[in-house]
Amino acid sequence: MAFDIEMIKAVYEKYPSRISAARKAVGRPLTLTEKILYAHLTQGEASEAFGRGVSYVDFNPDRVAMQDATAQMALLQFMQAGKDKVAVPSTVHCDHLIQAEVGATADLNKAKDKNREVYEFLSSVSNKYGIGFWKPGAGIIHQVVLENYAFPGGMMIGTDSHTPNAGGLGMIAIGVGGADACDVMAGLPWELKFPKLIGVKLTGKLSGWTSAKDVILKVAGILTVKGGTGAVVEYFGEGARSLSATGKGTICNMGAEIGATTSIFGYDEKSEAYLRGTERGDIADMANTIKEHLNGDAEVYANPEKYFDQVIEINLSELEPHVNGPFTPDLAWPLSKFAAAVKENGWPAKLDVGLIGSCTNSSYEDISRAASLAQQAVDKKLIAKSEYTITPGSEQVRFTVERDGFLDVFGKMGGVVLANACGPCIGQWARHGADKQEKNSIITSFNRNFAKRADGNPNTHAFVASPEVVTALAIAGDLTFNPMTDTLTNEDGQQVKLDEPKGLELPTKGFAVEDAGYQAPAQDGSKVQVIVDPQSERLQLLEPFKAWEGTDLKGLKLLIKAKGKCTTDHISMAGPWLRYRGHLDNISNNMLIGAVNAYNEETNKVKNQLTGEYGEVPAVQRQYKLQGIGSIVVGDENYGEGSSREHAAMEPRFLGVRAILVKSFARIHETNLKKQGMLALTFANPADYDLIQEDDSIDILGLTEFAPGKPLTVVLNHADGSRNEIKVNHTYNEGQIEWFKAGSALNLIKAGI
Ligand code: SF4
Repeated sequence: MAFDIEMIKAVYEKYPSRISAARKAVGRPLTLTEKILYAHLTQGEASEAFGRGVSYVDFNPDRVAMQDATAQMALLQFMQAGKDKVAVPSTVHCDHLIQAEVGATADLNKAKDKNREVYEFLSSVSNKYGIGFWKPGAGIIHQVVLENYAFPGGMMIGTDSHTPNAGGLGMIAIGVGGADACDVMAGLPWELKFPKLIGVKLTGKLSGWTSAKDVILKVAGILTVKGGTGAVVEYFGEGARSLSATGKGTICNMGAEIGATTSIFGYDEKSEAYLRGTERGDIADMANTIKEHLNGDAEVYANPEKYFDQVIEINLSELEPHVNGPFTPDLAWPLSKFAAAVKENGWPAKLDVGLIGSCTNSSYEDISRAASLAQQAVDKKLIAKSEYTITPGSEQVRFTVERDGFLDVFGKMGGVVLANACGPCIGQWARHGADKQEKNSIITSFNRNFAKRADGNPNTHAFVASPEVVTALAIAGDLTFNPMTDTLTNEDGQQVKLDEPKGLELPTKGFAVEDAGYQAPAQDGSKVQVIVDPQSERLQLLEPFKAWEGTDLKGLKLLIKAKGKCTTDHISMAGPWLRYRGHLDNISNNMLIGAVNAYNEETNKVKNQLTGEYGEVPAVQRQYKLQGIGSIVVGDENYGEGSSREHAAMEPRFLGVRAILVKSFARIHETNLKKQGMLALTFANPADYDLIQEDDSIDILGLTEFAPGKPLTVVLNHADGSRNEIKVNHTYNEGQIEWFKAGSALNLIKAGI
């Protein structure tokens, strides 16, 4: 049903010639990452080698995946492109908006009701434009993708940070913002800075209590949350080949926690078994025909130091189970040292809740191994001391593990099965008593454990471990319990020990599902109406932005001179505003409310030049807009760093800001501004930032001769009648200048230029 065999065939047919061209261009053996990237170049066969961490390169990804929170704006934008259908296979997954409260069925029904307008929009827009739609309850994006769409040697982008999960099946899968997804669905290339490469050589074999999760918990401890930035992490070695495909998925998923662009494993027997197990034997057959291209070259893995920018080696036979946290996923503790760390640091030893599952750890293997411990708890008369929840990653996994009796076992242990959705992992958790903000501990098999993420309580100490360790600790109700060495007292007062967990990588009876929750798009979507209620607070159809008027911009009011750090979160805050992600007008009420005004060091308080009074940034800007007056935002270094959310560029554009002038930009935000038809400018002399005054009226000159590499002139007309003329730079190429002139990149696509 869900995968596109013709597309994969076309990708594989290109492999032999593209890899041989790449080898010639690079002049040495290739890593797997390089093979996949060079096989997906927009230009076709490589004619030159790209500089790692230097070159910006255009790629043609094979797929796009979107989750429901980010899909809204991505698809509202896509509707502006004037296309009948998406250019590459794409899917939408309804997983982020379901709140966990009492249990799967009730929670799902409540979410369907509460988010009806969002689901109706996503369902209808998917139906119209040829996008596969996974309904609420179908599962979490990354698990569904792994089961249905990921394929060895493929390339995918997804509007979610844990998209790299598909690397477990040998795919280069990268998390992006909605604007990038929109471009690729509209048939445009996708730009990426050619990544650096970190090689992780795995030797030995896992056994006993240790699982794939412990590999990434260990790697996170080594590399820290920033260590993977700008790099792809490629795993190889006999240890890698011994891991299940879903275990590899867990490792790649959590590569996001070290900031990696993505992570990947090569194609092997375990990948083949998983493809066949998920009824994709035809893909396995095809992959087998180009097997040599779906792994790095033998020489690369024999002498990794020569070919990777950094190499790490981990012996799986010696690897201990780990617990990471609290508050950061890179604080890694081997299980044998964890109890002492809990005591020394004064973390609450009493464990309140253990949570297993999520997109990171809800494979058949994970659930069966955790269930083997739950069964022991029942058999050995142990009553679980902590609350315990299970979040299946997909309906297919849920149905199968229910059929095989595992959910029943969890129930006997006191576990509660939550909906197949993100739930507590993304803070969609109506946790009883969290508002009291009491100090407490929880442990999850999820990926992120930043303060407040799960339940909004800053005093919840969240730890991350494998589902096996989470289950054992939940049975004990105590973070200082080490299941490998310690005993527990059972109902009869006897001391009992938990045996090592046991499980199966794949179900012996195969996967089963009654209704996977998939809605295929209409063959011909031309008659399908996209449903958006004009009264909706959460959704609003977009209007195209106006084209450039063809003249220099004069008399722009300074809206704010932002001081210091100004991330996309300062520009378009998350939290309660997530609700309005599909409504540009409403979400624009958060524009720049987190930015610090350089003149009064306060946030969300700027001078309204029309009245002389101080007001909130969006309110002041709306007054300028009402009067038809353009404005300008001035910023400091690395303006727009952080998440790639396109709202941070769309909101100022929507409210009438014409230019952003800063000391330097974070590149993704700079590109997003260009796409929306904004002027993204930098001071030729950064010290000129100090010349900007609070009452300035600003002119931007030279736009009629706007050209690549040619600076523009900015005139600062100060309130006292004096003026400064300064040079400003830009990085627009010819094509991007056309975006500016057309009003946005989408306007240009729509015009078919
Ligand atoms: Fe993201 Fe958690 Fe949902 Fe996975 S389960 S997609 S990490 S929110």
